[in-house]
Amino acid sequence: MIDLRSDTVTQPTPTMRAVMANAPVGDDVLGDDPSVADLEAEVAGILGQEAAVFMPSGTMTNQVAVRAHTEPSDEIFLDAQSHIYYYEGGGPAALSGVMCHTLPGERGILTAAHIRDALRLPNAHYPRSRLVCLENTHNRGGGTIYPLSTIQEIAQVCREHGLGLHLDGARLWNAAVATGIPEQQYCAPFDSVSVCFSKGLGAPVGSALAGTEAFIARARRFRKLFGGGMRQAGILAAAALYALHHHRERLQEDHHHAQILYEQLIGIPEIHVLPPPTNILMVHTPGFSAPVLADHLRYQGVAVLAAGTQTLRLVTHLGVSREQIHHVFHGLQTAFRDTARDPQPQ
Ligand SMILES: *Cc1c(COP(=O)(O)O)cnc(C)c1O
Repeated sequence: MIDLRSDTVTQPTPTMRAVMANAPVGDDVLGDDPSVADLEAEVAGILGQEAAVFMPSGTMTNQVAVRAHTEPSDEIFLDAQSHIYYYEGGGPAALSGVMCHTLPGERGILTAAHIRDALRLPNAHYPRSRLVCLENTHNRGGGTIYPLSTIQEIAQVCREHGLGLHLDGARLWNAAVATGIPEQQYCAPFDSVSVCFSKGLGAPVGSALAGTEAFIARARRFRKLFGGGMRQAGILAAAALYALHHHRERLQEDHHHAQILYEQLIGIPEIHVLPPPTNILMVHTPGFSAPVLADHLRYQGVAVLAAGTQTLRLVTHLGVSREQIHHVFHGLQTAFRDTARDPQPQ
């Protein structure tokens, strides 16, 4: 099976498993785990932040960040397709009691004008505007990359109006490799940054939240409150460290594979597809049901997810080889042949 459902499906490599098996560990809730401490220091360094804290998932790093930046009844601004709003189970409402003010980004990318136009003046009628969340690269946008200048302009608006600025950088590694802009530079305008080790980097579990010493101390309290304190977590941290050291540069290969896939798929007339900036291809299938196409594609040995009623999402990662990429094109051609046009396109 060629599994393009997500870059979360990667298997830990044999070397990664060996590193995990031999990792020194301790009780991290008591601050004793040397592997977790190493990972947190290394991540803070790469992101140019004072401190970082390891957590089990990207969802938790984002939700802890939202909670640590806000108080109940505050308002946060984010793109309507953002992971924090779309894919985290309504966490901001349930866990932080904040209002999500969603904005219409272009393939997930907001501008300073979006924020400026949405801002409210301080007044007892209004919720308190408190936080802006950006996502780089943007998942539902199709792996889109934030221009650094746009981030800086948004940060300027945040500074002028006393808003915090959080980055959901689950795939920040992809943006850095694709542009050559170091992670530190992308992170400098932000008050907090979350990153994932379990996406393209190929670790089995884990994310980190980074920011100032004071912010991370507050975040540690909410991590515990949300049930995310882990004991001998060094086994997981060792995999994340290994992934940081050995799997970052190779993300370029995934981007190259997505590009090859794109160049082949534009040859299928039923498809509308935009060039992938990184490793995610959003394939629009006007007139065809994406879930039905995905079923037919599975018979061809290719697994993909329907990201909408007429949109398939294809994600390249370290478990997919060049040869397999070439097979996807033929699989899709066959799937279209076997799929009737949707009589009631939505
Ligand atoms: C995957 C992802 C996350 C976190 O997902 P988890 O499965 O909770 O680790 C956060 N943000 C974005 C943009 C993602 O793609």
